[in-house]
Amino acid sequence: MSSTDVVAAAPAESVSGAALTIRGLSHSYGGLEALRDVTFDVPAGSICAILGPNGAGKSTLAACVAGTIATSQGSVLLDGTDVSREPHFRRARRGVAYIPEQGAVFPALTVAENVVVGRPGAGRRGRQEAVDQAAAIFPFLGSRSRDRAGMLSGGEQQMLALSRILIQKPALVVVDELSHGLAPAVVDKLFAVVAEFRGTTTFLIIEQYVKRSQELADDVVVLSYGNLALATQANAVSLDQLEDAYEIEARQPDGPEPAPPAASPATGQADTTEES
Ligand code: ATP
Repeated sequence: MSSTDVVAAAPAESVSGAALTIRGLSHSYGGLEALRDVTFDVPAGSICAILGPNGAGKSTLAACVAGTIATSQGSVLLDGTDVSREPHFRRARRGVAYIPEQGAVFPALTVAENVVVGRPGAGRRGRQEAVDQAAAIFPFLGSRSRDRAGMLSGGEQQMLALSRILIQKPALVVVDELSHGLAPAVVDKLFAVVAEFRGTTTFLIIEQYVKRSQELADDVVVLSYGNLALATQANAVSLDQLEDAYEIEARQPDGPEPAPPAASPATGQADTTEES
């Protein structure tokens, strides 16, 4: 067993987590429309992967759902309750947990301190309980509990961030780039944990790996130039159809031209070459 091996969480007895409903969601940065009239549903307890090339609006969508970007047009509903006008801390109180692309852990704090962030009265005992819970998900966290989070590798930090959130039994977990820059073996471990928690919480995960995402997720959503290019059950489309959706250039007849992708479409090239 390597230091970061995963111990499977107990399977869910019944589905929990919040149903997420996104209706007509739009967001502009100044004159740039980063998201345009995006509508889709994520059933409670399911995993939804958000795919799309660079600049497609994936991070903007994640931030709009988490509430770190104010929702100006459209609606975000949790179990039917419209939370669109609530700031991120109110959504957090409803159980919306967010792992941003950067800054998912507090590098100057220890692992043990990280797992109780947001629980001011935890104390030494509460901290140990939280470490034990986190270590039940990623065992290496038990032996590294006194290390500063900044000393962990990128993959270990992502595991810490994910476990910190999962032990709080969130209603919805929003992850911006779960696997970004991580080795395939580390990605496997993160994906395995997400799969184990299917049914206990709802996941909205921004991903770069198309094939892996399709295998993991119940539903996939492809964004392209800020538009919804595809929203479907993961097993209802082929990999080719998913990758084709990346290329859809659904420009509006009026309004400002959307920004072109910053790089060649991230159609999971690493993924398809790596695994095919
Ligand atoms: P990536 O995969 O490269 O992270 P993305 O699909 O997550 O891309 P976003 O980061 O949501 O896309 O960006 C969508 C568009 O909005 C891009 O054209 C981007 O340049 C622009 N954008 C994002 N954040 C800002 C900001 N804070 N101010 C201005 N423009 C922004």
